[in-house]
Amino acid sequence: MTGQMQNTSTQIPKTSKSQTTLQDIEATNLPKHIYIETTNMCNISCKICPRTYFPLESKRSLTLKEFQHITNQFKQLETVFLHGVGEPLLNAELVKMIIHLKSQNSYVAINSNGTLLDRVWSESLIKSRLDELRISIDAATPQTYNKVRNCGQLDKIIDNVKTLNDMKNEAKLNTPRISLWFVGMKETIHELPSLLQIAHNIGASEVYLQRLIYFGKGLAIEDQSLQMGSKAEISEYENILKRCEELSLKLNLEFRASGNKLPSQSLKMPNPKSNAWKECKRPWISTYITVHGNVLPCCFPPFTVNQFKDCILGNVFEEDFKHIWQGSDYMKFRNNFLNNNPPNSCINCGNLWSL
Ligand code: SF4
Ligand code: SF4
Repeated sequence: MTGQMQNTSTQIPKTSKSQTTLQDIEATNLPKHIYIETTNMCNISCKICPRTYFPLESKRSLTLKEFQHITNQFKQLETVFLHGVGEPLLNAELVKMIIHLKSQNSYVAINSNGTLLDRVWSESLIKSRLDELRISIDAATPQTYNKVRNCGQLDKIIDNVKTLNDMKNEAKLNTPRISLWFVGMKETIHELPSLLQIAHNIGASEVYLQRLIYFGKGLAIEDQSLQMGSKAEISEYENILKRCEELSLKLNLEFRASGNKLPSQSLKMPNPKSNAWKECKRPWISTYITVHGNVLPCCFPPFTVNQFKDCILGNVFEEDFKHIWQGSDYMKFRNNFLNNNPPNSCINCGNLWSL
């Protein structure tokens, strides 16, 4: 599953209609932060993943040649996330892709479910100079993990990450930086303090709480969202997060929410009138490319709309990315965004789930 992108300080154009200029809509600079879906295949079927319930795109993996065709269309890539809806370790050419990006000094991150992270993968990833490895773990007990991820391998994942960390230490290297990503749900939140302890034990330096993006299937339902808790439940969740904050200080761990927000913001009651999506800078600074070359404004459309075809802004196998970035569909998307008429995929961002 996709991780959340870090916010940057880049300024978004002003949103008043009269102040919108052609330059705002064109976004003349190519993005320096991109997501590339290296595969959309996965070895498990999580109950919070749209891939489990919806036919997104047909299954495939990017070849190295296709990958280079994509990255050659960008001038300078500062940050590249090599994941989307799929498990990147199922792409046998992933390491070559990382090495290609590192030779161009990009910061490279992947998000993995950790089930396939054996010693061979760990050694290859360490040698590739991968900067960041994000592991999705939404529970601290095998039973709860299995409920959410349909997968009985929590202990193996924990062992895998610990082994990678030990190998990294033996090699006297600081990378990849390891973080754990926890989707907060009513079903799982009670296990978050124990996950912090696990993170500490296996050498992860950061734990992120993500808000559940729900789409009405499996466990990705509104009723599982922490924000939808009763007053008593919210108070209980606040206490859990407080305990986590204290524990993180004791264990010298970073404990944050995705989007670099405070974890407690995950409990804020939604306010549909807040237009929190306006804070989003992605239409101007980043992009997402699926394994079929389709360009989306970010990683959310597969999660927020059943059919994300309406969000496709072009295809990098048919047209140069520069033309797509400055083309009529992207300009229309930015124009609608600036004029308070964003697509459905944006409406709940920053409100029901993190930006
Ligand atoms: S591991 Fe990620 S891509 Fe695979 S089913 Fe789970 S959430 Fe989806
Ligand atoms: S869905 Fe829209 S508002 Fe949300 S992160 Fe993507 S571009 Fe930004």
